[in-house]
Amino acid sequence: MISSSRRTFLTHATGLAAAPLLAPWARAQSARGAAARPNILFIMTDDHSAQAISCYGSKINQTPYLDRLAAQGMRMDRVFVTNSICTPSRAAILTGKYSHLNGVPVFNRFDGSQPHVAKMLQQAGYYTAMVGKWHLGSDPTGFDYWNILPGQGVYENPTLYDKDGSTVYQGYATDIIADLTLDVLKNRPADKPFFIMSHHKAPHREWTPDEKHRKQFEGKHIPEPQTLRDDYAGRTDALHEQQQSVFRDMTRRDLKIPPPPGLSGPPLQQWMAVKPTEVETVVDGVRKTLTGKELEDWKYQRYMQDYLACVQSVDDNVGRVMDWLDDNGLKDNTVVIYTSDQGFFLGEHGLFDKRFMYEESLRMPFLVRWPAGIKPGSTSKAIGINCDFAPTFLDLAGQPTPGDMQGRSFLPVWKGKTPKDWRHAMYYRYYHDPGDHNTRAHYGVRTDAHKLIYFWKKDQWECYDLTADPLELHNIYQDPKAQKTVALLKRELYRLKKELKDDDQFADKQPEESSYVPAPPKKKPLIR
Ligand code: CA
Repeated sequence: MISSSRRTFLTHATGLAAAPLLAPWARAQSARGAAARPNILFIMTDDHSAQAISCYGSKINQTPYLDRLAAQGMRMDRVFVTNSICTPSRAAILTGKYSHLNGVPVFNRFDGSQPHVAKMLQQAGYYTAMVGKWHLGSDPTGFDYWNILPGQGVYENPTLYDKDGSTVYQGYATDIIADLTLDVLKNRPADKPFFIMSHHKAPHREWTPDEKHRKQFEGKHIPEPQTLRDDYAGRTDALHEQQQSVFRDMTRRDLKIPPPPGLSGPPLQQWMAVKPTEVETVVDGVRKTLTGKELEDWKYQRYMQDYLACVQSVDDNVGRVMDWLDDNGLKDNTVVIYTSDQGFFLGEHGLFDKRFMYEESLRMPFLVRWPAGIKPGSTSKAIGINCDFAPTFLDLAGQPTPGDMQGRSFLPVWKGKTPKDWRHAMYYRYYHDPGDHNTRAHYGVRTDAHKLIYFWKKDQWECYDLTADPLELHNIYQDPKAQKTVALLKRELYRLKKELKDDDQFADKQPEESSYVPAPPKKKPLIR
């Protein structure tokens, strides 16, 4: 069955075919016509923030292959995560539903028996595959092929497992996941369109680069963000109480400080988990002990050198996979998406990690290339959410959006025809409290120009004018001049909360975190 939105697209494409003077992207679109449903290659990294992608204006690195992807397609500037941690974001992407409806508000087990987009695409005739970081605490469902890291996985010589058991792969995780993605592309059935989720581990903590890229960033000075030394004046308790501070909470493991010889087992783990207040290292060829501001500066540099080196490997491998598509005649009608499961703090507000609703964590990078459907070099400021991804994939496959999904297809946005009734506000909710990094639970609304955040366990509010204060340093919640805006934002917040059926079911009680143990090794463990 062809959905109404699909019919609109086909009519649009056919209409373009009759026009004599068409841009190349439009000619490609018309030439494809109604014949082939597009392939979908969904590349997602873990914790890659837009501030570390040069086409988003990075001041700290260059990502030529991601920039090429944007130049050949669209860069979306306002795609937001609905709950900024790994597992909940992945569940929202698959189901098209918020945490309170898909049952994954924290790091708990995803119930794979529920409907989700891979199952629907599989039923619609797509070949479906999932490679790399899954992190949903249960085995994938709805995929013809899957091969995944157990939990977080490791960077060096990672184990991955499929339905038959596990295999140790020699090498670096980012290279291996790209290799496995290419294997899927090469071995897929030729008579079906494909939907491939290629999920990298990088650049997740503890940011372990491969040797080539580590050397590229070793000793390189990375500019500091303006808000690295944010004093949190005027903000509520949450920023004061968090334990995701670059200066205070980085461990010896994070900072790659070599352990003393002879340590192993639990004592080594304990040593690595210490958050050092002084570090002995070599600066400009001289051995010295760093403390105070000198140590703070050094910690930020160590963090960013490793993080950016991990990103560089991702960029290289995205280029490698896209080159293969281009060389094998798959360029025109394959939708290639690059995104991350959420944003990340790269020292902004003095933070690492994510969780908070501030922009760096809330915003997902979202680049998409589809020569048959998207004008090269386009950009969009339409507000998207991760619950939109599943409806978008279904729309590409000519399938309707199920009534209980809470997102909306990006297709009209990609075509430069954002509907008049497109959303101007998105709802966010983070639950993991108590949880890692002591980040206070909160929900809130982000509109085109403002943000209102409510820390419900504290009954404390923050409000930001994103036009006047894009760095989110001035909490205007108590400002008499802002009261009309605050009232409007509160109304919108509660309207969205109701519309999205958030009944506070996880407000006081989080589900247990997953203790899932992946499949045992294969009878004859393979080493590749
Ligand atoms: Ca993540």
